[in-house]
Amino acid sequence: MTVSSSLASSPQEPSALSGIRDQFPILQTRAHGRPLVYLDSAASTQQPQTVIQAVSDYHRLHHANIHRGVYQLSQTATQLYEEARARVARLLNAAEPAECVFTRGTTESINLVAASWGRQNLRPGDEIILSVLEHHSNIVPWQLVAEATGALIRVVPMNDAGELDLDAYRALLSPKTRMVAVNQVSNALGTINPVREMIAAAHAVGALALVDGAQWVAHGRTDVQALDADFYAFSGHKLYGPTGIGVLYGKRHLLEGMPPYQGGGDMIEHVTFAKTTYAPLPSKLEAGTPNISGVVGLGAAIGWIESVGLDLVGAHEQALLSYATERLEQVPGLEIKGMAREKSSVISWVMVDPPIATLDVGTQLDLQGICIRTGHHCCEPLMDRMGVSSTARASIGIYSSREDVDHLVDALLEIAEAAR
Ligand code: PLP
Repeated sequence: MTVSSSLASSPQEPSALSGIRDQFPILQTRAHGRPLVYLDSAASTQQPQTVIQAVSDYHRLHHANIHRGVYQLSQTATQLYEEARARVARLLNAAEPAECVFTRGTTESINLVAASWGRQNLRPGDEIILSVLEHHSNIVPWQLVAEATGALIRVVPMNDAGELDLDAYRALLSPKTRMVAVNQVSNALGTINPVREMIAAAHAVGALALVDGAQWVAHGRTDVQALDADFYAFSGHKLYGPTGIGVLYGKRHLLEGMPPYQGGGDMIEHVTFAKTTYAPLPSKLEAGTPNISGVVGLGAAIGWIESVGLDLVGAHEQALLSYATERLEQVPGLEIKGMAREKSSVISWVMVDPPIATLDVGTQLDLQGICIRTGHHCCEPLMDRMGVSSTARASIGIYSSREDVDHLVDALLEIAEAAR
């Protein structure tokens, strides 16, 4: 059964975005013989032709190792690498590019802070505050450093809508709190957390704050100085860039005070067997040959999203999120998980009546060319809190359309009907 909604004829996307889809070669492909409906942008966004071209040009025309060669090719590669860092600084509104360290992604950025800052600063009995909404990447690194130092982890709970309990958060804060690490947007529910307020409260008790911005940077403007974030982490592949590249922003005085995360080439000033001195920021925290083409691709992605305009992106995605929420609510037996007042780009659900396993939902949608994510979304503590083992999750990006949502909803109506 295919049911089309009256909402399907509601106003289309702003004309400024027409043509966006055509810039993504992968969106012109098919899956199982059907046009690709890509609704898994929270896992990885697709890459526009500009980014693909920039990476290809780098490999074809500019590849050499950076920071070392006296020859022109190496200097061009170095220039491209450092220009990308300047773009990152502009995207985040960092005070200077040296505060932006290239990593493999959000996961490595958080591990870097936990290992470097954490091992240097945490003592037995110190407290690290996380939230129940965190991705495993913002839990496990802290558990590792807590085990190594004797620090303790405290967890901010949430209400049934998926919003953090700020009273409980304030009650957890104390002079023992050394670090608050929270995501700006939950990858599993889409909740936008009040990170500015949370950071201010952390600072009031003398703690630092790390923001996991993996699910935010592609959806709106970021200003680490306005947030007063001590650390901010994100991944290139969720910002229309390549995989294997990400960023750790840190305030200069904090990064300067931290020991190197890894040792090797490029991060040293002088090496003797008696003693090694380290390079200034950001090199001190970038040991070894980095992912140069990834950095170039990330720089291109930032240039591209800025040319589209992050305000326009946000407006488009918010309108589509409302539309998708309304339409999914029409599917019999479908229960949306997480209805926070402030949400971004993600809808999670379970099929409860009749119950249909999320894995089956994902598999059946795949046969229709529709890509969504099913499982615990690397958020097992959150799943436990909600009393489910998994959810189905659709997530949208700049290229997502009402037609994508309509395909999803029509397919879910068929799946629900067939299960009756
Ligand atoms: N934090 C959040 C909120 C995420 O959604 C993800 C990825 O899904 C990560 C961290 C980890 O990102 P990566 O795998 O790119 O390191």
